[in-house]
Amino acid sequence: MRYAETGYNLEIDLSRGNVERVETDPKLTELHLGGLGTNAKLLWDRVPPETEPFSPDNLLIFSTGLLCGTPAPGANRTIVTTYSPQTLLMGYSMMGGFWAPELKYAGYDKVIFRGKSPELIYVWINNDKVEIRDASHLRGKGAVETAEIIRQELKEPKAQVAAIGLAGENRVYMASVEQGRSSASRLGIGAVMGDKGIKAIAVRGTKDINLARPDEFIKLCNEVLQYIKARDQKPVPGVMPILAGLGSPAEMKLVDEEWHTQNFMWGNARERKRDYWNKEIEEKWKQTQETVRTRLISCYNCPMKCGALISVPGISTYMMKCFSKLTYTMAAFSDLDFGFKIAQRATEYGVDGFSTPQVMAFAVELKEAGILTDQDFAGCPSDSEGRFYWLLDRIVRREGIGDILANGTYWAAQQIGKGAEAYAHNNIKKHEQLPLKLGMLNPVYFLMYSTGEKINITQIEGQFPQAPFPTMEEREDFVKDWVQVPDEKFKKYLLDWEMRGERSNPYYPTVDMSVDIVDWQETMHYIDDALGVCAGLSAFPLKPPYHIHNYPTFISSATGIDMDEAGLKKVYKRNRTLLRAVNVRRGLRRTDEKPPEDHWKKRFPELEAKLLDAYYKFKGWDHEGIPTKESLQELDLTYVAEDLEQRGIIKNE
Ligand code: SF4
Repeated sequence: MRYAETGYNLEIDLSRGNVERVETDPKLTELHLGGLGTNAKLLWDRVPPETEPFSPDNLLIFSTGLLCGTPAPGANRTIVTTYSPQTLLMGYSMMGGFWAPELKYAGYDKVIFRGKSPELIYVWINNDKVEIRDASHLRGKGAVETAEIIRQELKEPKAQVAAIGLAGENRVYMASVEQGRSSASRLGIGAVMGDKGIKAIAVRGTKDINLARPDEFIKLCNEVLQYIKARDQKPVPGVMPILAGLGSPAEMKLVDEEWHTQNFMWGNARERKRDYWNKEIEEKWKQTQETVRTRLISCYNCPMKCGALISVPGISTYMMKCFSKLTYTMAAFSDLDFGFKIAQRATEYGVDGFSTPQVMAFAVELKEAGILTDQDFAGCPSDSEGRFYWLLDRIVRREGIGDILANGTYWAAQQIGKGAEAYAHNNIKKHEQLPLKLGMLNPVYFLMYSTGEKINITQIEGQFPQAPFPTMEEREDFVKDWVQVPDEKFKKYLLDWEMRGERSNPYYPTVDMSVDIVDWQETMHYIDDALGVCAGLSAFPLKPPYHIHNYPTFISSATGIDMDEAGLKKVYKRNRTLLRAVNVRRGLRRTDEKPPEDHWKKRFPELEAKLLDAYYKFKGWDHEGIPTKESLQELDLTYVAEDLEQRGIIKNE
């Protein structure tokens, strides 16, 4: 009997219209757990590195995490993996909501798509019955609208539907996959789904998931729930509001946006408004948010309620998650009311709420600089909000200048030329980042930005405070119940960290400490992404309920696999290294690993080189960031070493 997982994947060949239920190898679960780990393995094994993202040979994998569908609170992530058209590297984007547990209950751990459908289709997975259905009537429909139409035509109100909007159909590089109160937005996952001709995947499942030691597992779940309750009543003092509590940035609950509006950049990640927030704006924004926010909502089996149902008069209701309310607002130099309105249209179109506003602000800058012309903007309203709606419509339809902008700032700048490259200034590995421009280099963040394979800073950080606490009293108070640390040394790192002087950024945390901190943060993210647990309850917040000390028992009581902390760290390291190898095989090298040039005003090239060297060495990689033969062998990845050697990537010296 298989525990926690179903032991079956659904393999769908869209070119042939063939559907197969395939039993999986339990050994792979021991080696990689599930989710991101087994997705990376599939991509390594089955998609040659020369494959273009829009090739029929590229796979599109919708995976549950290993604990999804079990009673573990917050275990609801779908990990969508493919080769990204934006970065050309492995893209893996996650969504919460309800889709992954439903797929488990239908009897599958993953749905793996290959080939391309000649016509637009949707897939209906109803327990053992799987159908590929015509979706021509859904062409051009919004992602939320599509889900509703499908539920009605199936007469199955409980079906969970992951769908793309017009952006995905038109292979816009920032197209998302939308699912209820969540979305897989980064890295152009929706564009690959559209390229394969899949409008939506609807799932309904009514089966059970087996647990190896259910009593022990339920006890652990109850402890987590109790901790969440207690932690919720005890916010961390001295940190910004979204870090004080748990949950994936609790933007729908919070109305205090002083920190974001004054520290993040407006427009095309350019302008900081240090004195923006005042009593009047605070009151106005609070009223806007509380008027349109009909109710707060959670993902499957989670008490946190990070999302919200948004009803703006005159437009359809939608669900908002995370941070999109501010990204459009700030990129367009507008206000919150506009943010809530345009986000509805953007959700229906199915676009990434981080990249899209930046692409539009980039276009506006190019116009102001005379690089884009009046002709490019023919028919565009002159006011900022009107311009953003106009640009959004053109991008998702790939009309006129929108066709170029639909490829994101990096590729668009290459196509436009005439100096446009200087305006695509906020990218890492060809992908738009948070609009932050700061003063002094932070060594921990330098490493996270440069080396992160998820290419989304908010999904790499967490665990360790972002800035030192001003007084020793605050530091001592913070560390006294810090049970999540994998090692007591992290407490010392924090206690000694000062705001100014010798023990402050950029030389403190020291190079070795920075590597340790990044490794801890990555460990937690990679484990979450293999288990399907929301980072909002684990890797992202300070002092979360899940950590390196309780995860091994969670895994072993759910699956029956013997697991301790050392074993779990090895799985993390294996998954991290395999993912690195997938990308190395596609050409990723040291030269690609850098933050946006103007992210920090004060840079330290020598220190930065030392940080990268130390990080690579710690991981068992060479000077170029390529895993060494020895480190691959230690992690049971000898087949990877052999392949890299055959290709001349690892030199056989
Ligand atoms: S913490 Fe928030 S985002 Fe995460 S599962 Fe719970 S409700 Fe969803």
